[in-house]
Amino acid sequence: MDFKDFELIYKENRCEIKDKQKIELKLKEIVGNNNVSTKEIDILAYTNDTTLIGFNWMIQGQIAGLPDLITWPETVEKISEILKFANQEKIPVIPYGEGSGVVGGSIPIRGGIILDMKKFNKILEINDKNLTVTAQTGINGMNLERYLNKKGYTAGHIPQSLYFSSLGGWIAHRAAGQFSTKYGKIEDIILGIEVVLPQGEIINFKTIPRAATGPQLERLFIGGEGTLGIVTKATLRIWPTPEKRSLISYAFPSIEDTFNATRQILRENIYPAVIRIYDKFETKRHFPNIDNAKEKVMVIFVCEGNTKLVDLEEIITREKCEKNSGVDCGAYPVEHWFETRFRVTETSSMPTYKIVFDTIEIASLWDNASNIYHSVLESMNKLEGIILITAHVSHFYPNGVGIYFTFGGAPGKEQTDLEYYQECWDTTIKAVLEAGGSIAHHHGIGINRSHWMESELGGSIKTLREIKQLLDPQNILNPGKIYVDVWKGGEK
Ligand SMILES: Cc1cc2nc3c(=O)[nH]c(=O)nc-3n(C[C@H](O)[C@H](O)[C@H](O)COP(=O)(O)OP(=O)(O)OC[C@H]3O[C@@H](n4cnc5c(N)ncnc54)[C@H](O)[C@@H]3O)c2cc1C
Repeated sequence: MDFKDFELIYKENRCEIKDKQKIELKLKEIVGNNNVSTKEIDILAYTNDTTLIGFNWMIQGQIAGLPDLITWPETVEKISEILKFANQEKIPVIPYGEGSGVVGGSIPIRGGIILDMKKFNKILEINDKNLTVTAQTGINGMNLERYLNKKGYTAGHIPQSLYFSSLGGWIAHRAAGQFSTKYGKIEDIILGIEVVLPQGEIINFKTIPRAATGPQLERLFIGGEGTLGIVTKATLRIWPTPEKRSLISYAFPSIEDTFNATRQILRENIYPAVIRIYDKFETKRHFPNIDNAKEKVMVIFVCEGNTKLVDLEEIITREKCEKNSGVDCGAYPVEHWFETRFRVTETSSMPTYKIVFDTIEIASLWDNASNIYHSVLESMNKLEGIILITAHVSHFYPNGVGIYFTFGGAPGKEQTDLEYYQECWDTTIKAVLEAGGSIAHHHGIGINRSHWMESELGGSIKTLREIKQLLDPQNILNPGKIYVDVWKGGEK
């Protein structure tokens, strides 16, 4: 196979490695012969993440990015040595978890070395008294959760990508799981981490429930998207397996009624583990056979934990739903959700019909939630070629929500898939910003959102850029992400 036969999507500012053999030999010296590859089959596997437009590219014989070498280090010291060597040679290094990211975070757009974390897969300790688990960050999400479940615990972090994402990827993208309303998002779950900085220094942040030890520097790496350091170990909160689980569902006349009901539940300091609102279009798609939900907006709830508390949560949840015109739809819609919650066939089937399809999650205070929902639908429906634009709401706070839009459409004759994809993204993000929302809730920035970072962060982007330059003066760690189009002084 010759990669020259494929059209490369990201080919600007590639790092040209003059003597690849020398780099390969040195990497082999550091991590051993079996932990380095330049085989085409391996290179091909790391040309993309799960950015949905990648499926369109695949069908058309295009590849997103082209790495030069793949490596699978086994110890933190080896990662440190690789980074020191990469700085010396000015070669990009891209941390790679399981490639389930959907914003281009682990695509090697400048070429260089993929640093795959899969051999960092050990669970190091469960501490029942502290209710913590410590693990290496390359561990697969399902393997970690399954292990915890067998011992009688849960970490409460169940993203839809549980089976094919890693602990390190969750930390890097500030992930949020399906049960996040009760257990928190990854930043609430992480108590301590170990990080290798871009120039090779290894630092450890103590595991502690809380501290007043100045600014919490470790927060830089939770959401750092592999640009500020490589997270190698983490300690997480865990919880005993819930005693009881209640499954509740209600259908409402409008999205506003669902916002009122769920906001009023959280206002009472009641946190169902799962809350999911499906707008009218998604209710029709996911629950076509529920009579009480016809032409309505479905909300499902899972309350879990101590039996007495769950009973109380259920009473208050039902009370607030009924007060806001909710009609009881029973346990079945929630059972159906449990059965289908990891199924994503829709996603990969669309590109075969030449449809550009994706999802965009954003965050909002309650103030703006309804306005954002309607503004995005209205703006997207005006776009030429749009086939569908729908939403569900899956992450809740007493102060606001995370809204998750799904769109699909056909590019115009003169447009590439990428141009149309960007038009859809830009239309959505513009509507969100104008209606007072925030551009990302839990998928991160990567490539897709980088050109919106200035609008999102305002003046603080300058400080963020200065931190990146301070930690990574050669710009070797995952270059071209988050800050790319706003990197003053040019890419190195
Ligand atoms: C079908 C589907 C469902 C999804 N559902 C959810 C969901 O429910 N919730 C959610 O939050 N996300 C979801 N995602 C998105 C994705 O799974 C998450 O972003 C996940 O956190 C990425 O993990 P990964 O191990 O695959 O990371 P990768 O895709 O390999 O990498 C993501 C980023 O993290 C960096 N990185 C990876 N490991 C490390 C490390 N150890 N140290 C530093 N940087 C690192 C990479 O450089 C890259 O920038 C979903 C994706 C798909 C395709």
